Amino acid sequence: MTRPFATALLMSVALSLATPSAARAEDIVTVTAMDEAFSPEQRAKLLEAVALANRVLASPELRARLGAIRQFTYSRSDGAQVHRDLTGRTYALRFEAVAQYAVNFFGIKRVSKMVASSGHGSGQITFNTLRMHEFPASYYAGTIVHELCHICTDSSSGTGYSHRGNHPTKNNLRSVPYRVGELAAELAGSLSAATPPSAAPTPGLSGALGGGVAPSAGGVAPAPPPW
Ligand SMILES: [Zn+2]
Repeated sequence: MTRPFATALLMSVALSLATPSAARAEDIVTVTAMDEAFSPEQRAKLLEAVALANRVLASPELRARLGAIRQFTYSRSDGAQVHRDLTGRTYALRFEAVAQYAVNFFGIKRVSKMVASSGHGSGQITFNTLRMHEFPASYYAGTIVHELCHICTDSSSGTGYSHRGNHPTKNNLRSVPYRVGELAAELAGSLSAATPPSAAPTPGLSGALGGGVAPSAGGVAPAPPPW
């Protein structure tokens, strides 16, 4: 799908939902393809997540909070450098929907623990639609920013920021994608809270935090509490 067409399509979706998240010229993140399998509520939540991610990426708070971090695992960049690498470009993402079940040892089918996964820099993020009611848009803003860390180039290495495997190990939690994703979710959460409920409904907010998120199959941060 060509980008202008997809962007126009997505913008029309955003406008038809009357969300405040229609793409703007200065946005760092745009979505160029959204799976038709998402429900209107799920679409609205993801577009809200993109809007929140854009606000966080443009915020002085992110610059200040990242600038205070001197060290990460798996990178020689400090927080100020990460901020420059992350926000110095634009990103086009594709959102895929999957109803992900898992079959346990006894052959019983359950909802998978997978919340979201990515191809680590591919620009595609897969969301488990069976769990999307559990998490607020701010959580998915963190997921999106985690993926952007993989896509952008770490100027200290010339490759994307990375971590080892997809489990929330001590070292992974201090890697750029995990720490920055977590920080973005936190900042997005405070932005959501500051927005009048009528302007930005986040259904399913209650109980969405604090439960932890299991490791995902493909890569985006399994979120440790509190996101
Ligand atoms: Zn990752």
